[in-house]
Amino acid sequence: MCIFCKIAAGELGTAFLYEDENVLAFRDLDPQAPTHILIIPRSHYENVEELASAEPLTLASLFRVASDLADLEGLDGHRTLFNTGVSAGQSVFHAHLHLMGGRPLAWPPG
Ligand code: AMP
Repeated sequence: MCIFCKIAAGELGTAFLYEDENVLAFRDLDPQAPTHILIIPRSHYENVEELASAEPLTLASLFRVASDLADLEGLDGHRTLFNTGVSAGQSVFHAHLHLMGGRPLAWPPG
């Protein structure tokens, strides 16, 4: 089972900032900004493209949850992103939306 499937199953004792029947959110283990939250579908899809094809409404929900959490965190701006593929920095092959904020975020990213 992949690491995020284990988190979704509650096997790692991860604290959830949000959960419903399709979506979970929790803080990144290695935060790259003061706020760095991962929002994931409960179901396993390797990347956002697979998620978009199979569960487009869940994909939309990830962004709704990100927006709500950005408000709760008091962010005046934030970045949402998916890394797709190893060369883009994807290291966990269970689709996940990064929500980052709380510091100035440079553009373009590295
Ligand atoms: P990516 O590199 O886009 O695939 O992002 C994977 C993210 O998952 C990285 O930012 C990791 O720090 C994070 N991560 C890996 N394992 C865990 C975990 N057990 N709990 C929370 N975040 C994790």
